[in-house]
Order: sequence, then structure tokens, then C-alpha cells
Amino acid sequence: MYSNYQDYQDRVSIFELAQLGNTQAIAYWINSLLVPQGIYVRVQAARNGSLQIFVELPWLPQSQEDRQKLRDRLLRYICDRLGKLNSKYIKVIEIVASLVGYTDILWKQSVRLLTKANGGKLKNISKLSSRSEKHTDGINFKIFRSIFLCCLALASFIFIYKANNYEAANTPTTEPQSETLSTVDVSPTPVASPPPPQEEETKKLVFSAPEQFQGQIVHQVQPERNQKLIALTFDDGPWQNTTLQVLEILKKHNVKATFFWIGKHLKQYPQVAQKVVADGHAIGNHTFHHFTRKMNSSTAAREIDETEELISETTGVRTSLLRPPGGVLNNGVVTYAKKKKYAILMWSVDSRDYRVRQASKLAKNVLNSPNSGGIVLLHDGGGNRSATVQALPEIISTLKQRGYKFVTVPELLESAKKAKSQGNRG
Ligand SMILES: [Zn+2]
Repeated sequence: MYSNYQDYQDRVSIFELAQLGNTQAIAYWINSLLVPQGIYVRVQAARNGSLQIFVELPWLPQSQEDRQKLRDRLLRYICDRLGKLNSKYIKVIEIVASLVGYTDILWKQSVRLLTKANGGKLKNISKLSSRSEKHTDGINFKIFRSIFLCCLALASFIFIYKANNYEAANTPTTEPQSETLSTVDVSPTPVASPPPPQEEETKKLVFSAPEQFQGQIVHQVQPERNQKLIALTFDDGPWQNTTLQVLEILKKHNVKATFFWIGKHLKQYPQVAQKVVADGHAIGNHTFHHFTRKMNSSTAAREIDETEELISETTGVRTSLLRPPGGVLNNGVVTYAKKKKYAILMWSVDSRDYRVRQASKLAKNVLNSPNSGGIVLLHDGGGNRSATVQALPEIISTLKQRGYKFVTVPELLESAKKAKSQGNRG
């Protein structure tokens, strides 16, 4: 790949295309430094002539103050990045921020850049809603070069990005004076307060436990009366092949399960993870490295937080369910998780598939001791899981014959919550 490097330098650069108002190129220009931080922007030319920058954040800081700081930093960064283009085709930008996987808007801000397009005059932009008509006929984002050039640029971007040398390859020979770079109105002009989260949407993406289980260790629960419920759980994925095989079997039997992911595996197999979520299964956190040793509190926190963020970033899912690696409760991980109000999910039925290599034995381990309200421990990743895959159809069919209904862990906990409130009433 590196042997072609010179060729790429001779081709039209992302910088030039971005300067000409090509939205894809602008997105690449901005993303090149954001993506490593997990932040991603999409760029679109709005009908009114402004440039819309949709910022997708993988997470939000806890405190209001830090959120404001992040917002300011992002705004400055984007404006500075666009200022560097000094394009005569970019006048006004609208920044629209949201969390990855969520439709509700966190904040929205309109900014007029001091570029060639604005004749070097810095002007405050009032609220988006009251922006005057004269801005609306401003910029016409034409297709400036042929699709062929776009393709070249795309190819060169991919190459350069991969070579980690994006910046160097696209630095313009005549960089604008630094005073003109970030001359923007950065006074926050919030346009709309975020609308209330759409419940349907949020429900689908958040896996949490009812309050009574938050910060608690759960091995099994008492479901609602007369309900024979059981939850299959799969640890240590996402994984190549075996996770997909498990998904296939679950789909065939119309069973929803819960997957506890290891962060470093998720990093390796993001598409497998997305498939798990798309198939409607519940997701839990199984820490980043699967350490079972004792950890100091900051390592323990990182193990959980980094996985939590990566899950959100990769799949849009927020989860506060934890399966502690190895079931270890006293190495620091659970202490931190409890503070974060995670529910700690253990199990009541152990397949021992981490030790047993024969599918028939493994199935027997599950089928010998199922219980209503029980949680079954299985593994879809982290090693050779062919025995688990092989045993799964038998486990599911037999339990179904015995009248069990398969639910996800959140569903199981929800049923227990209902059972409790019924008990209280009765
Ligand atoms: Zn594990």
C-alpha cells in the first residue's frame, strides 16, 4: 500500500474538494481528527444554503459543566477546521448534536464563519428560528467535479486515513492567515431544548434493571405467578462464527437471549455485535479485558466504563447489566458496578461449557437443573464454542417441551418486579 503513496499525493485532495463545498469531503475533513475520539459527523447541505453538521457523540459527560465544555470545544474545533478551508462556498453552518443511536437532539447551534464567503465580516448569528431570509439564498452547493473525482478523493481518503497520514497529505500549500481561521461567533445560541426522549425508541436501546435490582447481585428471580420463565445468557462474545451460529439457532427457535460482551472482543467484531442487537437480544457488560484478578478502583472503573461506551458507540445500546468475569465478586469490578447502579447478573444454571467439551454432557448440565426464574450460563465467544452451538438446539427444544418460556434478562427481572408488587398487593 505504501508504495502507491506518491500517486495519492498527486491526486485531487480531500482538502480541495472540501474547499469546493463537497459535503462528503467536508465530513472527511472534519472527521479525520474526531473519529479517533469516537465522535463522528455527517455533513449535509441544507435547502436554505447553510451547511448542516450532524455530530454523533458516543457518550456524554456526567456534569452539566463538562457537557458545556465539550460542546464549546466541539464548536471551536469544527469552526476552526472549516475556517482552515477558507472556502467561498461555506458561510453559515448549523451544528446538530445527538447521541449515537438516538434521534433526539442534544443541542443545535447556528454559526456564521468568517471566510471568503462572508467577505471577512464577522457577524453574530441570531437564533436559528429567527434567522433572516437573506441567508437562505446564499450558497448553492453544486457538484463541482465529476463523480470520478469524488471516487478518487474517497479512495485517497481511505488510503491516507489508513496510513495515518491524513493531515500531512492534505495540508494546503497556501494556508490562510491564522487570524482568519477561527473567527466565528462562538457565543452559544441554543436553538431548541432537546425534545423529550421518544419512549419507544429509548426502550429498545436501553437494557436496565428495575430499581429493586440496581446495585444488587442476582442469581435467579421469582417470576410472576404460574409463569415458567428462563433466561439464556451468552458470555465472552461477540465472536466470529459461533456468535452467528448461536444467533441462527435462536432465530430458528424464536428465542431471545442476553449477551454479555467483552469490550476487546467487541472492538474486534463490531458487525457481529450489531447483528446481535438487530436480532432483538438484550445486551450486558462483561468488562473490557475480562480480568478476574484484584484491581484498583480506577482500573475497575475503566473496565466497566470503556466497555459501556464502546457498546453504546458500536450499537447504540445503553446497558446497566453486568456479568462479572469468572463470577468474581470481590476484585473491585462489582464494587464499582454497584456504585453505578448496575444489576450484577450471576446464574442459577451452569452449563460448564467453559470446561465440558461434549455437547451431550453440556446439554445435560443445563437440563438436569433448570428452574423457573433461572438464568443459564453459556458462552458464545472467547474460544472454541462449537460444543455450546451443538448443544443449544437440544437445550431449547427440551426446555420448551417442559413448558419453559425463554425471556431476556431484563424481561425476567421485569416479571420478578411484577411478581413482587402483586405479592405486596395480595
Ligand atoms: Zn466470561
